[in-house]
Amino acid sequence: MINFLKNVSSTVYLDPTRNFELKRVESQKRYDPLTGKLVRIFPFRKIDFSRHDWAPFVEESRQRFCPFCPGVLEKATPRFPEDFIPGGRIRVGESLLVPNLHPYETHTGVVVMTPRHYLSMEDITGEVMVDSMEAGLRYLQVIAEKDPENAKYSSINWNYMPYAGGSIIHPHLQVISGGEPGNLDREVIDSAAVYYKNNGSVYWDDLLEAERQDERYLGSTGGVEWLATFAPLAVGDVTAVVKGCSTIQHMGRKNLVELAEGFKRVISYYDSVNLPAFNMALYFAGREDRGFRCTARLVGRYTLFPLVGSDISHMQMLHQDPWTLQLPEIMAEELRKFFE
Ligand SMILES: [Zn+2]
Repeated sequence: MINFLKNVSSTVYLDPTRNFELKRVESQKRYDPLTGKLVRIFPFRKIDFSRHDWAPFVEESRQRFCPFCPGVLEKATPRFPEDFIPGGRIRVGESLLVPNLHPYETHTGVVVMTPRHYLSMEDITGEVMVDSMEAGLRYLQVIAEKDPENAKYSSINWNYMPYAGGSIIHPHLQVISGGEPGNLDREVIDSAAVYYKNNGSVYWDDLLEAERQDERYLGSTGGVEWLATFAPLAVGDVTAVVKGCSTIQHMGRKNLVELAEGFKRVISYYDSVNLPAFNMALYFAGREDRGFRCTARLVGRYTLFPLVGSDISHMQMLHQDPWTLQLPEIMAEELRKFFE
């Protein structure tokens, strides 16, 4: 029932690195099995980045103003009105959720994950991730009760380090909720509802069924199962499916613990292949949506050049064609070791 559609293109040229011998190179187009969206896979097999040293950036950012460091945080970040969030902020463990000073939806919160200004990938603990996501989840659950019309569609997001679009080094999550889903969220939610109507089953349940015997399956952490995404949006694209959850009301700390356990493994893998940054999104459907499962997605981010550069080109920016340098099946071979 799941259609893993791909299209292999073959290109021939005379290779300057091999005395202009005839060479055939393959690239792929793949189509997301749920949405049909095209992605491109360039013909590299292994990612082989040189190690990125964040130390000078971290040091410089310490010298500048950081609104999330202890002592400054209390004065520099906004508070919610008391009748909305009693106490004005949400604390779970060492994490603190505050309103986003620059909102881009009706409800946007920022979770300052830890008092520490910088966490290397190795320093990111399960506890930090679980507490921070729980702060996000509690916020989403409160606003869904207090302002249901403007809090139908929610997500919890993480831009780890500047290459991933994080403007502040100090670790933080972005929590969003609005009256309508974003572009990709809408496509996925709508496609899942159509799939459910046509097949009488949930797309992600069928996907896991199809993938469990396959080369893209990574493993499970309790009720969360992990896959190398068939049609990746970027390098290191991993999908996690949370069993039995589709909205913020279904999710609890146990799910977050199991998610964080997998995040830790994926982040260790990124670290091992010198991917210096990543994005994470945790997706939820609205209460009325059918055929959805909560999923999380992580992608690695990098720069093509030692100091300046971008991994976003004309392809993503002006054609909306996501691309990656690596076949998911090759990544799964390496990443699966972290799930054993
Ligand atoms: Zn800081």
